[in-house]
Amino acid sequence: MSYVVLARKYRPRRFSDVVGQPHVTRTLLNGLLQKRLAHAYLLSGPRGVGKTTTARLLARAINCTNPNEGEPCGVCERCTATLEGRALDVVEIDAASNNGVENIRDLRENVAYAPITGGAKVYIIDEVHMLSNAAFNALLKTLEEPPDHAYFCLATTSPQKVPSTILSRCQRFDFRRVSAAEIAAHLSNILTSEGLPFDLSALDIIARKADGSVRDSLSLMDQVIAFAGGQVMRQDAIDVAGDLRLDLYFRAVSLIESHSLSDAFDLDEELASAGVDPQDYLVGLEEHIVTLLKIKAMGVEKTDVPIDLKAEYASMGERVNEGDLTRLLQLCLVAETDVRRNFNARTRMQLLLVKFASFERSVVLADLISKLEHAPAAPSPAPAPRVTAAPVAQTAPSPVQRPTTRPAPVTPVAAPAPALPPPPTGDAAEVLRKAQDSWETICEKLAENFNSRARLIKHGGFPVYYSNGTLRINFAGSSHLEAGRALGAGLKEEYAAVIGTVSLDLQIGPLPNMTQAPAAVDDDPAVKLLKDRLGARQV
Ligand SMILES: [Zn+2]
Repeated sequence: MSYVVLARKYRPRRFSDVVGQPHVTRTLLNGLLQKRLAHAYLLSGPRGVGKTTTARLLARAINCTNPNEGEPCGVCERCTATLEGRALDVVEIDAASNNGVENIRDLRENVAYAPITGGAKVYIIDEVHMLSNAAFNALLKTLEEPPDHAYFCLATTSPQKVPSTILSRCQRFDFRRVSAAEIAAHLSNILTSEGLPFDLSALDIIARKADGSVRDSLSLMDQVIAFAGGQVMRQDAIDVAGDLRLDLYFRAVSLIESHSLSDAFDLDEELASAGVDPQDYLVGLEEHIVTLLKIKAMGVEKTDVPIDLKAEYASMGERVNEGDLTRLLQLCLVAETDVRRNFNARTRMQLLLVKFASFERSVVLADLISKLEHAPAAPSPAPAPRVTAAPVAQTAPSPVQRPTTRPAPVTPVAAPAPALPPPPTGDAAEVLRKAQDSWETICEKLAENFNSRARLIKHGGFPVYYSNGTLRINFAGSSHLEAGRALGAGLKEEYAAVIGTVSLDLQIGPLPNMTQAPAAVDDDPAVKLLKDRLGARQV
């Protein structure tokens, strides 16, 4: 017996077999069960996702003499006639090659006759957007007053090219691209029932290469099976489908880190010599950037990325910020529009990569404020004698004398430098030391869930005093204090494990390590940029 390609052998026989389009199949099944079908449907969506298959299923389900909960039985005379393509009442027209008005006139004459088998007439018009204007007008007349026994399924990959007069006569179903995970699961079921050995990463490669099309995935898998002699292993899939070359996308985004023009031209050279279509590449790069944004929003585990590249995706997601990714995406979209308009595609690609390499990265404002607040005060030409510093320190009550009172609040606007509270003694000193030792660890732990805030307070806050169950934490500025307040519950919980339950007293005030932290502020490219471009001064 001759070999039947998988796409034909496993063509859905029931609505429930259609992969990844439950919103369409459920609505149609309900319509069939309740006998509330529209006379015209528009099935739109990318190629290979099941539009024509669904239209044929509908034709069978409408005509089946023994339907089972709306599904066609597949064995009655009308079902088998349709399956074998000899049903006279189911007419398929390919509008790509029959787009003239005379084809639709034939259809209109034919529609008027009663169905031969006593069921219904179903007209499936594939690629309906290819019809000429005159043909659309002729079709419209039929759709306006269809006979009771006639149903129309119009399938198209370009619904925007279908006149609105036609659209408004149809119930519309938008088929979606099927996710790589759904396709891989489908392939795995088929290989299992075929009894062929396979590994999951091979299916992952095939599913991604098929780019949402179930039909493409099946033909690709046919090729792999033929190539590898009856199995589907990772290396076979790479040999046939070609590597996905996700590294080409990673390298483009890395250009904003390396700032290397020669890397940009190397990448361009490689894309050109590998014959990568600029438009395909740009679409892929846009998806790659959107994936990185998703990773930032919900973590790598909840994102649909190849299993063996999760670590690489997570690391890149850490290194670039949302603002940069959004701007990169905009650059890609502009370049893609130009490429689509047939402007010199290669030059557009080169321009884009050069823009990536000379990309000025945005700075998260909170980080910048933190750096500026940590900076040592610029030396003034004639430093005023600091008369207030000593008295503040002297008048502060010792911890022994004021176990129940809070330390005097230190206002950030006051000119005199606020002093640190005097160190506690005895057990309290031990508790404070523990609290200080664990500060960074606790901040890092909180960063797992509250990344930017916890990072902000890690160097912009510090426990400075402990007395009678109250831990005072000083923050360098108001943004740090706000972050500290927002993280208050978390801090309290973490500290409970280290020094027992404490209440927290969060204040703006000096940090003991303030003099060490800011060493690098002048070297920071962001600060430099602000100074050079905007004339910013450190105050
Ligand atoms: Zn049947």
